[in-house]
Amino acid sequence: MKKPITLMVSLLMSASLVFAGCASTKQSAAPQNGQSESKEVNVYTARHYPGVDDAIYKAFTDKTGIKVNIIKASGEELVQRIKTEGSSSKADIYITSDAGNLYQAKEAGLLQPVNSPVLEKNIPANFIDKDKMWVGLTMRARVLVYAKDRVSKEELSTYEDLTNPKWQGKVLVRSSNNIYNQSMVASFIELNGEDKAKAWAKGLVANMARQPEGGDRDQAKAIAAGKGDVAIMNSYYLGQMLASKDPDEVKAAEKLGVFFPNQNTTGTHVNVSGAGVVKTAPNAANAVKLLEFLSEAESQKTFAEASTEYPVNPNVEPSALLKSWGTFKKQDINLSKLGENNKKAVQLLNEVGWK
Ligand code: FE
Repeated sequence: MKKPITLMVSLLMSASLVFAGCASTKQSAAPQNGQSESKEVNVYTARHYPGVDDAIYKAFTDKTGIKVNIIKASGEELVQRIKTEGSSSKADIYITSDAGNLYQAKEAGLLQPVNSPVLEKNIPANFIDKDKMWVGLTMRARVLVYAKDRVSKEELSTYEDLTNPKWQGKVLVRSSNNIYNQSMVASFIELNGEDKAKAWAKGLVANMARQPEGGDRDQAKAIAAGKGDVAIMNSYYLGQMLASKDPDEVKAAEKLGVFFPNQNTTGTHVNVSGAGVVKTAPNAANAVKLLEFLSEAESQKTFAEASTEYPVNPNVEPSALLKSWGTFKKQDINLSKLGENNKKAVQLLNEVGWK
């Protein structure tokens, strides 16, 4: 997912662009009257779909006259940068994947609460931080992906069933130091309690086809290559593989089916990519306007489709591909819990030896 050199280059280029355009004097954070004098907003984003995202930002500028300056890097790099810049940071909005990452930015004191009836109308309540420090903008499901030639849908049911001895040596999943797995286990702690979550993780480790290696996409490729039968991974990676310019990725993805687990029980684990307004934002009012714009139907469709994610706005239909996978029941928890339970999740993952 990361290409350090490209990222650094784009970071440096964006940085010089931003600061070249930032001659105006800094305003006080969060203007109370909602009337910012400035005509720009600075977005620190870990999203990496420049073509499409740029088109949406341009549409925002056309509509409002507010220029959008983009700084791109990994979530960790951006958090570090906002911390280092301190009160002189130009950052207005921080965008990253996973409620667990958003929670960490909140806990580090980098975000401010946003009261916006527009956001609350467009985004389901469980995708908004309980202290309103961040909102989800696109949704992903952590699904089961299986080899169509070796596994039938009927054999799949729940995350819990993957600990059944019948799957011994057949399950693939990435490392537990990845936030996606930490957030998934955090959701299980919330829904089933710590003991059951730990027993599940232990059972899953016992059924792994190999020690975890690579990212979600690598699990899909390994299934296609016959190294296992079923993988746990984020839904959008399969969509991205199907749309890939690399014919091998397309070929691998075509061998795979998508299954939404726990439909008769607790629902499939979902997470978001989301954003918060930075505490020291010089253009906080513009930041809120941009977040509201991104939550509206017109941007939601494009913003989600760029990454083959689901729109969070329930009035917006997902892409044709995602529709072809069918509708599904989601876990019913506020995603703030994924962050709150993160420490416990990491601890139990270590205890069961999930590498
Ligand atoms: Fe990802």
